[in-house]
Amino acid sequence: MGRGEVSSPHAPAPHIAVVGGGVAGLTLATRLGHRLGRRGLARITLIDRSWVHVWKPMLHTFAAGTWNIYEQQVQYVAHARAHHFEYMPGQLSAIDRAARRIRLSPLEVAGEHVAGARELDYDILILAFGSRANDFGTRGVVEHCHFIESHDQADAFNARVRAHVVRSFAQGGDISIAIVGGGATGVELAAELSHMVDLATAYGGGDVRPRLNVTLLESGPRILGAFPEAVSLSAAAQLRALGVDVRTGAKVVAADADGYELNGGERIAAPLKVWAAGIRASDNFADSGLALNRAGQVVVGPDLLAKGEQCIFAVGDCASLIPEGADRVLPSTAQVANQQALHLIRHLPAWLQEGKSVPPFRFRDFGALVALGEYNAYGWLGRIGFFKGGIIKGWFALLNHALLYRRHQLSLHGPLRALLLWMAESINAMVRPRIRIS
Ligand SMILES: Cc1cc2nc3c(=O)[nH]c(=O)nc-3n(C[C@H](O)[C@H](O)[C@H](O)COP(=O)(O)OP(=O)(O)OC[C@H]3O[C@@H](n4cnc5c(N)ncnc54)[C@H](O)[C@@H]3O)c2cc1C
Repeated sequence: MGRGEVSSPHAPAPHIAVVGGGVAGLTLATRLGHRLGRRGLARITLIDRSWVHVWKPMLHTFAAGTWNIYEQQVQYVAHARAHHFEYMPGQLSAIDRAARRIRLSPLEVAGEHVAGARELDYDILILAFGSRANDFGTRGVVEHCHFIESHDQADAFNARVRAHVVRSFAQGGDISIAIVGGGATGVELAAELSHMVDLATAYGGGDVRPRLNVTLLESGPRILGAFPEAVSLSAAAQLRALGVDVRTGAKVVAADADGYELNGGERIAAPLKVWAAGIRASDNFADSGLALNRAGQVVVGPDLLAKGEQCIFAVGDCASLIPEGADRVLPSTAQVANQQALHLIRHLPAWLQEGKSVPPFRFRDFGALVALGEYNAYGWLGRIGFFKGGIIKGWFALLNHALLYRRHQLSLHGPLRALLLWMAESINAMVRPRIRIS
């Protein structure tokens, strides 16, 4: 008999709880809903602390206001209904492995208490709660910096950026923004802010472009350290051409209301500060008994089962997997999260019903892309395929970057709905301003 196989025709279908409806979790819930939920072979519940899903790699565009946040979000409640799973809003706060039960924190919406702490039993638990930036305990960061890790945070930062842009229109004065972290998030945000100011200027509110000061601070020797050096150099040159002050070897030791302090005492003045460096699991479940690495990620084996566990899987940014023969964990990227989700979607039904093991997950590295607003994009073609190791840039890289999101939409909504969404978006783009003004 398989792991979740029903022992009698009246036994309930196994309950799969997926925690986190991001790149990995929402794909899993959607596809397992169709494969298992629709036929009554399993009950699937998706738990997320938010009410809406957005594709995290586009958060910097919401933060800059160059893409419409409301157009791009997926409402979990409606999506669940259409794809044969249940959605439960809530934040995972504890895991009782022995009782196969999770606990959710009390729930507040718009400052209103809407639900107390709740418990949910599971037969199979899939952890997909993602990651957040790591401030490494740097003084003042939590109090004074914005993080761009959820649509709420991107929206909150955008509200402040708009206020500074309007003030600059109305009264003059600089718009000074300093971003810590020269990875894809920091680089893309710096370029997108530049793009936003160009569009704002085109709408005729005055030329604020010379008054935009964006500083990008990276403690390592080059930005985009995960990309080949040629990509780092080209991206840095493009950013400088846009007026971004790119500072490498710049280690931030403190943040306050007025700016950052660097190792050595230098100050970077910026009322608007973003922290986009480091990575750690989005929540800490140190007392769950699960094996965690130093960044709080759940250590998993090649079958994506948490170390020593029989029925707890972890995927995406919250999981730590060192592939066989490698000496470092897989990177925290949408590509890894998506491939791990697809791996479980493919093999979980047989694991559940026939007791077959989940085969080892093998990451196929198709490279990485980084887009600098609409100005340029750079990509590295990875370790797989005919063009492996090659570098692309310009319109071809921009197109490929845009297609990443379209692929995600396709996998969530299917071809017809994805096409309709894209058409609706294109029509909106013709009739609405290209930046968020209010
Ligand atoms: C601005 C930005 C740009 C990026 N650009 C790129 C890029 O260009 N290419 C790339 O490959 N990667 C990029 N990334 C990284 C990529 O977004 C992540 O690797 C990917 O989203 C990880 O997917 P995931 O499913 O593991 O987690 P996520 O997509 O982060 O989803 C996690 C979900 O879990 C929920 N959650 C968290 N904690 C709890 C809890 N305790 N209880 C309930 N729910 C919880 C969250 O609300 C969220 O919905 C970028 C990230 C950012 C922030």
